Amino acid sequence: MQNQSTIAYFSMEIALDTGMPTYSGGLGVLAGDTVHSAADLEVPMVAVTLLSRKGYFYQRLDSAGRQMEEPVAWVVDDYLHETDGRASVTLEGRTVLLRAWKFTFEGPKGHVVPVFLLDTDLPQNAPSDRALTDLLYGGDERYRLSQEVILGIGGVRMLRALGYNDIQRFHMNEGHASLLTLELLNERLQQQGHATPNEADIQAIREQCVFTTHTPVEAGHDKFPMSLARRIVGDHPAFAMESAFCCHGALNMTYVGFNLSHYINGVAGRHGEVAQETFPSYVIDAITNGVHAETWTSEPFQRLFDRHIRGWRKDAFSLRYALSLPSEEIWEAHSENKRRLIQEVNRDTNSGMDKDFLTLGFARRAATYKRADLLFHNLDRLKKIALERGPIQVVYAGKAHPTDQGGKDLIAHVFQAKEALKDTIKVAYLQNYDMELAKLLIPGVDVWLNTPEPPREASGTSGMKAALNGVPSLSVLDGWWLEGCIEGVTGWAVGGDGGNHDRDKDAASLYDKLEQAVVPIFYVDRSRFVDIMRHCISLNGSFFHTQRMVHEYVAKAYSL
Ligand SMILES: *Cc1c(COP(=O)(O)O)cnc(C)c1O
Repeated sequence: MQNQSTIAYFSMEIALDTGMPTYSGGLGVLAGDTVHSAADLEVPMVAVTLLSRKGYFYQRLDSAGRQMEEPVAWVVDDYLHETDGRASVTLEGRTVLLRAWKFTFEGPKGHVVPVFLLDTDLPQNAPSDRALTDLLYGGDERYRLSQEVILGIGGVRMLRALGYNDIQRFHMNEGHASLLTLELLNERLQQQGHATPNEADIQAIREQCVFTTHTPVEAGHDKFPMSLARRIVGDHPAFAMESAFCCHGALNMTYVGFNLSHYINGVAGRHGEVAQETFPSYVIDAITNGVHAETWTSEPFQRLFDRHIRGWRKDAFSLRYALSLPSEEIWEAHSENKRRLIQEVNRDTNSGMDKDFLTLGFARRAATYKRADLLFHNLDRLKKIALERGPIQVVYAGKAHPTDQGGKDLIAHVFQAKEALKDTIKVAYLQNYDMELAKLLIPGVDVWLNTPEPPREASGTSGMKAALNGVPSLSVLDGWWLEGCIEGVTGWAVGGDGGNHDRDKDAASLYDKLEQAVVPIFYVDRSRFVDIMRHCISLNGSFFHTQRMVHEYVAKAYSL
């Protein structure tokens, strides 16, 4: 088999289909949207990820908001074709056999980008090895590092086994994939006929690799004790090289990615700057994230765009023409989305929400820095706004990582606020946030709320999905919103840009914006509100998409 793909995209998680739980949040959704746009744009790409046979987890919440996690049962061969590709890796001296399942994205003119999902569940493997590709971000350090060996080293070997012998660029989407560089180095050493790598070998790998970092927080970077690395991977001679794999006794996957790449980027302008300050000895560029426009445009808005905007499905830039959309039709499409959401919320949670009330939405991973409960910082102030300016209701969703107690406490805190507010403001928390729910929730609310602690939100993408559906953001100025916010035109900023962000100040700013802008504009000046919706689509929907983003990767990261 001769395969001419020239870019290999590696990601621990890729959201491929709403029925496949192979992702945990924004990183995986971005990866899926990237590969999808690469197919649309006929970029020669192949992608590699893990199968995640038991998914991330299925979230159930009890009446106090306590999260329970269950493995996700999904039928792999309902979605994927098994290939005859086989490869193996060595883990702690054992040989572990891998197979690859295949998913394909097909562009409008038939260009195909295949995604290979690696799986160790084969009878030749020991029972504990068969479980290594079960859980996304599950298990302990040993489990995680074994998965990263499978993804990085196993992934390169699998591509070779499948006939991909002419790959020009290896793209590591986050540090989980960084060990692919070790296998490229092995290949190089074999070709060169020496056993110990030198600087020329490292340089040769660098020329092939690009790395994207997704978190500005150093603690968020994947790292393992060198002793564990040596035990699992073996004592590779490259582990002695300070310029490549070894950093202060740890195998830090971000540094590995940085050291072995000739192009490094963050995922929004500000994130690039912050990463550059954090890692001054590397050159770090920025490519702002996007979302796949067709995927994230709800059906009512798809029909609206089909009627008025030529070729928007092929060319997301043409959404700038949304400035011409008639107000009544925008409001009608939005009302349809909102009706669907409110009906579903009421059916699911018995909240008795009203489709005519201003509805705020907040859904993303329940990580502490995202501050899901900032809206509830001062309940009396919030109640006063609702009583004096107009009714408010809020829909939440989001999963906490199973070992993140802070994230779980955040969910429980939202439930406490829900109880405390129940006579004035209705709050619902929907279970098991996933792409399917995102497609219902984001377009169905009136305003999309985001209150991270800057500068920790590297990009954020759900606000981009909202913009495509005419839903303005009310958000802290961080990540993509620094580029997308035009005050009162595409939404509203919470807090200032930079400086000290403390909870009190940010919450006060959030209440001010609700009281003075969002609520009155929604209830008293509906035509202005719809005008803001129109600008969301025209200014932000037309730009923050993966068509633009993939063009940038082609120009800056993949170019030869
Ligand atoms: C888009 C999306 C995310 C990312 O949300 P952010 O607000 O960017 O953190 C997370 N989970 C799901 C299911 C999504 O669709």
